[in-house]
Amino acid sequence: MTPRPRAQVAQPQRPVRRGGAVVARIGRILSIGDELILGRCVDTNAAHIARWMSDHGLEVDRVQQVGDAQERIVAAMSDAAAGAALVVCSGGLGPTDDDRTRHALAEAMGVMLREDAASWRDIQAYFSRASIARVPDVNRRQALLPQGARIIRNDQGTAPGVLAKLGGAWFACTPGVPHEMIAMLDSVAKALPGLVPGLRPATIRELWCSGLGESTAQELIPGLLTERDPQVGITVSEAGHLTLRIVGTPRQVATRHRALATALAAYVLPQAGLAPSLVAWFSGRSRTLSVAESCTCGQVMAALGAVPGASRMLHEGLLSYAEEVKTRRLGVPRPLLRRHGVVSEAVALAMAEGMRRHSGADVSLATTGVAGPGGATAENPVGTVWVAVADAHGSRARRHHIRGDRARVQRRAASYALQLAWERVNTGV
Ligand code: ATP
Ligand code: MG
Repeated sequence: MTPRPRAQVAQPQRPVRRGGAVVARIGRILSIGDELILGRCVDTNAAHIARWMSDHGLEVDRVQQVGDAQERIVAAMSDAAAGAALVVCSGGLGPTDDDRTRHALAEAMGVMLREDAASWRDIQAYFSRASIARVPDVNRRQALLPQGARIIRNDQGTAPGVLAKLGGAWFACTPGVPHEMIAMLDSVAKALPGLVPGLRPATIRELWCSGLGESTAQELIPGLLTERDPQVGITVSEAGHLTLRIVGTPRQVATRHRALATALAAYVLPQAGLAPSLVAWFSGRSRTLSVAESCTCGQVMAALGAVPGASRMLHEGLLSYAEEVKTRRLGVPRPLLRRHGVVSEAVALAMAEGMRRHSGADVSLATTGVAGPGGATAENPVGTVWVAVADAHGSRARRHHIRGDRARVQRRAASYALQLAWERVNTGV
């Protein structure tokens, strides 16, 4: 047997050079908190920071989570510092004893913590704005700053952030609370040219497609998914679309975007996903949409309603969970329900048609299915879902079998309903 070649290990110790110019610098992310490593909190901060870093031209080569133990944070910080230009940490800046980020940074830097007068004034002012007369003593520790460090002001909460140099790397320590961390990144962005000079943000463009899987996409675009110059990746979303991401120089990105859009023309969405594309399509034509939902329990409406401007096209939504509601509010005939069962093509069609009649919207959608874990029959196992669409030209329904738990069945069923609506309005099928 031929030995497998060793996987290539990235060498993050130096700035990445292409053609002699520094085109990217290494950014790293350290998310701190026991709740993260215990799997009780999803690390959305890391995703946000990674996106922020790549948008600013940093090359993220590592995202790490560490618990609240100080010695582990010190080790993770020292490790992250080697070879990075900027490390953004989140979490552990609170007032309680388990918040150790400041202490860990001072220990890693080999310096003392001292109280920062400006931070203490900010904390007092924050409490006074919130009409709290006495600042709890424990909050005083939030004014502690490693010697040589600067504060990052926080107008959203009590914990000031910390900006300091550890080895060759700048560290920006931000609170764990997502909106405080996000606001603080704006301050870091302003300081960034001084901290990491010469950053040139890469151009990143996306192309969204619906109605085809990854494999079909790959067959349609041979040679266009490349690792470099430009880097093109493909991601499948649970929201029912594929995203192709192109990263490179403006010229590379423009050329490749054109080639991909041509090869995938039949599937390209005009906006970033099905719901935004539907909102744009309907509002652009002054048409309306209504939705009758059973197994998706409002998720189709919620997906559309989350898009700014949805009020221009979203007419009405009805949660017709009980059979009696399907009959009384949507006019689904009782004999039809008895004959075909509630999870059936006939009922899905009758729901969509009834919703359209009753609401007066131009197009209506309906969903009915077995979200589980109970309710399965021999004919309709858990995950069986019918989605239907009705418009002036008639109606059509499609059956899906979705694997996974209740949450996934509901989520995917909602995106299949949106997909059916898109096909109907976009291609008339
Ligand atoms: P503070 O105590 O001042 O609020 P902190 O820096 O100690 O700030 P944490 O106590 O660790 O922050 O977390 C505060 C909140 O932020 C919690 O609700 C937690 O779930 C959330 N949070 C913390 N870290 C993350 C993360 N990486 N991603 C998403 N949410 C997070
Ligand atoms: Mg914490």
